[in-house]
Formats: sequence, structure tokens, C-alpha cells
Amino acid sequence: MHPGLAADLARLPELLEETRQQALAFLAGLDERPVVPQARAHAPVQSRTQAQPDPTDTGTDTDTGTDPGTGTARPAGLAETGGGLPAALAEFAERWEPRLSASAGPRYFGFVTGGATPAALAGDWLTSAVDQNSNSSLDPAGQHLERETVGWLRELFGLSQAHHGTFVSGATMSNTVGLAIAREWLGERLGVDVAEDGVGALGPVRVLSGGAHSSVSKALSVLGLGRTALRSVPLLPGREAVDPAALERALADTDGPCVVVANAGTVNTVDFDDLRAIADLRERYGFWLHVDAAFGAFAALSPEHAELVAGLDLADSVCVDLHKWLNVPYDSAVQFTRRPDLQARVFRNSAAYLAQVGEHPDLVHLTPENSHRLRALAAWFTLRAYGRSGHREIVERNIAGARALGEAVGRIDGLELLAPVRLNVVCFTLATDPTPERLAALAADLADEAFLTPTRYADRPALRAAFSNWRTTEADVQRTAEALARAVRKPTGGR
Ligand SMILES: *Cc1c(COP(=O)(O)O)cnc(C)c1O
Repeated sequence: MHPGLAADLARLPELLEETRQQALAFLAGLDERPVVPQARAHAPVQSRTQAQPDPTDTGTDTDTGTDPGTGTARPAGLAETGGGLPAALAEFAERWEPRLSASAGPRYFGFVTGGATPAALAGDWLTSAVDQNSNSSLDPAGQHLERETVGWLRELFGLSQAHHGTFVSGATMSNTVGLAIAREWLGERLGVDVAEDGVGALGPVRVLSGGAHSSVSKALSVLGLGRTALRSVPLLPGREAVDPAALERALADTDGPCVVVANAGTVNTVDFDDLRAIADLRERYGFWLHVDAAFGAFAALSPEHAELVAGLDLADSVCVDLHKWLNVPYDSAVQFTRRPDLQARVFRNSAAYLAQVGEHPDLVHLTPENSHRLRALAAWFTLRAYGRSGHREIVERNIAGARALGEAVGRIDGLELLAPVRLNVVCFTLATDPTPERLAALAADLADEAFLTPTRYADRPALRAAFSNWRTTEADVQRTAEALARAVRKPTGGR
């Protein structure tokens, strides 16, 4: 054994304890560290001749002797010997950790970003410790644990037993797998076998959607259906939800079977398509109904908001992200479908040493990957630890936080709310001259205290704050509102 490996193995308990201490120090500092240390994109980039380390420098330096991030001298190339885990821990702590964001913390409102509950974190640590490849019934425990977890998630989102679920790395992958099954279904309807003969056998495909997430286009590109297969259907006035009458007209104009992507939780204003109305149209027009409920599915946990996702169970396939609102570490999502048989037709992987596809296909036959991390364990831990009520509390507290920030924004002179806070996102802009540059400057002024990301909504550049972290409290909302008010008053930020 390499002496570095042998030395680390001999001290494994001690070294893992040091790693734990480092993790705890990071977590303890979450509330105080700059939320995004490198978000000050407008800060002047230091030239190499003033070679002070500058933590705000996003850096484009490619000189071999200079750290691309900090401009400081760095070790040249890959080490021959290394120095073992202690050396890696020390260098990570010194060079990389200070540059990491507090995305696991309570005021990272960018994109839609979850944290990791204590139990989810523990489950994720153990996932690496036990290091399973849980894709085969020849070594079945991991698959069984995943099935149990999928069953709990079905209950959480009000899905019936008819929905089969598989863990994947994120909602983009979940949308991709769902649309791959849709593609196979189109083949079934047209009497061709896409998995065997390719997408060419299908002819042009239509995918109709109102406010589809960008990952849907990406999925269509990956699947060989092409980004132009996606046809935008008009939205309801002043909304991000599809107009069902317009969808019906688009369906009437479409020859042959097609796919409808319904959206349950859009990223700017968290709007929801009327899933039951769309499922009714399916009775008449016969399409595959895929629902992107990446984070919107969690509305089902709040009795006050569950109506927004009524009809989710009617979908042929459903995308739900878990590293967002379930608060498990990256990366984790689930793909649900009523047609696991078609899923296995797409992803079947035949080899002498693998089980046959059969009635309950192994995970090796159900996703683009062959090897399968025991990704379900973090979700299993958090669901086992906090149950339905624990996760409902997170969702309801986040919704209340978004509402409170929305009200605060309404009271700040110089800011304008662009949409009602329907669930967990606050979308707003500068009341006067809201250019992308001025909004970026405002966001950069905030970045030590809170992280918000830019968007465009109702034809105006805007910012959005998305609530999905289990740590976020009323105090965080207040701190964010105060930071926003200060930033707007600054000559560069506000009027
Ligand atoms: C976040 C999101 C996605 C993509 O999720 P990833 O986990 O980043 O792949 C897809 N759809 C919606 C509605 C989302 O919010």
C-alpha cells in the first residue's frame, strides 16, 4: 500500500474527527461568513503586478504559477507524493473554503437552493462511508431502501402507487428521463420502436408548454428531439401559468400524438398550470403529460397551498427536485412515472452479469447511469427523522418568510414588487431605471448579507429571492430587508 494511504488508514478515526471539526466550523460560521464572497462582480479586478491575494477577484489568470482564483502563488501541478489527508484538509481550509458561499445557510436566496437538514447531512455522510453501488438485485439492500424512500415521497406529494419513482441527480435529469419515456410512448402510439430504431423513426415531435423551465429545452436537445420541438403556448394574462384554452387550440392544431409539459411552480413567480384542466384535455387529445414540479410539488405539504398541485397524480411523468425544498445535499431528485415498462425499454442495459429487466427492473435499467449512488439515503434520513410534519414546517416557514419579505419590499421606497408572492419567491425590481447593471450593483451590494439572482419578468429586468432553506427564520427576513433598504439608499444602488 502507498505509504500515504497506509498512514491515513492507520489514523482514520482521528482524521475523520478532524474532518468533522472542519465541517462543524464551516457550519458554525454559516450565519456570519459573506453569503457569496465572490459575488462582487463589479469590484475592480486586481492586476497581477499588485499580487496581493484578493478574495473578491473572480480571476481569469491562466499562468501556471498563479492560482486562478486568488492571484497568489500556488503549488505547481499535481503532487507526486501528496502529503496525505492532513495536507489536503489544510490546503482546502486555506485556499478553497474561504471562497465558498454560504449556500447551505439561511440567506442564500439565489436560484432555488436548499440546505441540508441535520439528518440529511448525516445520511449523506453515511452514503459516502458505505459507498454502495445500489443498482442490482444481486446485491439488493440499496434498491430496497430507495423503493421505501420513493414510497414515502409518493405519500408526501399525494401520488398514488401507480407512480414508480427513481432517484436521479437533479430536476434537469428528471425532466430528461421523463421526456425520454414520453419519446418512447410517442413511438408506441405511432407503432415504431424508438429505443431500437432511433428518433428518426418518429418524424417531427411537438412538445407544448406554457412557461417551461430552461432545462426542458436542454432535455429535448439531449434526446435528439431538438430544442425547436418545444412550442410555447400563450400564458394567462399577467400570469406564468398556461392558458388552457390556448393549449386546447394548440392541441387541435397538432397532428398526431404529442407531449405536454405542465409547469407546477415557475421560477419567477411560482405560478402553477391548472393540472386538472390539462389532464381533462388529455382525455380528448391523447398526449403524454409530463409535469415539472421541481420545487412546486412541495406545495402539497401545506394544506393552505395543496390545491395548487391538485391533479399532480394524473401526470404520466413527474419531476421533483430534492436538493431544493426537501433540504438534502446536492445532488438529488426523483423522476416519477406511470410507465416504468417504457422507462426500462429506453434505459435497458443488457449484460451477462446483470439481472434481466423483468417486472421490477433493477435500477441499472432505469436511468442514463449504470452505477447508482445510494442517493436515496439522505432523503430517507430526513424523512425518517422529521416526518411529514417536520417537512411541512419547513415549507410553511419558507412561505411565510417569502410573504414577509414581499411585504417589506413593498414598503421600501425605490423598490417595486413585480408579482404577488404566490408561494416562496419574491420577484421585484427598482422602481426607476431598472437596468440589469443597476440591479447587478444592488445585488452585489447585498452579497455579504443575502444572495439574490437576476431575472427578467414582465419585460423588465428584476431580482428574485427564493426561500427553500430549512434554517431561514424571521430574523433572516428582517436582516435581508434591512440590507436591501440600505443598498437601495446608496447612491449606486437606488435612485
Ligand atoms: C431547478 C429547476 C429545474 C432544474 O433543476 P436542477 O436540479 O438544477 O437540474 C427544473 N425545473 C424547475 C421548475 C426548477 O425549479
